[in-house]
Amino acid sequence: MNKGRILVVEDEKKISEIVKGYLEKEGFLVTVAQTGQKAISTIKAGFDLIILDLMLPDMDGEDICQTIRKDSDIPIIMLTAKSGEEERIKGLGIGADDYVVKPFSPRELVARVKALLRRLKGSNETISFNKGDLVMDPFRFEARKNGSPVVLTPTEFKLLQCLAEHPGQIFSRLQLVNVILGYDFEGYDRTIDAHIKNVRHKIEEDPKNPLYIKTVYGIGYKFIGQPDED
Ligand code: CA
Repeated sequence: MNKGRILVVEDEKKISEIVKGYLEKEGFLVTVAQTGQKAISTIKAGFDLIILDLMLPDMDGEDICQTIRKDSDIPIIMLTAKSGEEERIKGLGIGADDYVVKPFSPRELVARVKALLRRLKGSNETISFNKGDLVMDPFRFEARKNGSPVVLTPTEFKLLQCLAEHPGQIFSRLQLVNVILGYDFEGYDRTIDAHIKNVRHKIEEDPKNPLYIKTVYGIGYKFIGQPDED
């Protein structure tokens, strides 16, 4: 089944082939462009989403992004080797919808593609992890653990959803504060630990050896559940 058409703009052949393979396995139709010029001329063919590398031989990914944005609101995920928060904000400021930092796991990228398409469609599809052990319904704000409903507060759900939609990505406490409140608020960041602790007690078999939310010492948290294939 065709889940959508994706344009992958990436000059490193090894990366584009792996990404293409993973996306095709998930039912997407994938076209690869190796240069910025090729990307801009190809995009007129019509795609549902673009994965755009920031570093290309002929053009800057940011320029391509801005060129595309002049007449299209197609979802764009940027690939970059820069991991700083400034670059992230800059990337989103020029119209990218999401950001994946290299090196990334192809599974993570596929999960991000699906999450972005789901968010934009306002789709009521559920997302599930670890062979159906944890199922989330972002549309209804509901979650199930091993088939039983889990009662999460809106804050807990938002935190879990943010982490789950970005598997493998490390979030600082301050970034998670931003997810909950919509702005940075230092001094609030320690309460994140309390919320995470509560979420763990609700979704982890053994909160001390979590299978979903892992503590990254000195930084924050990341989601380590395995997204199920549809
Ligand atoms: Ca590149």
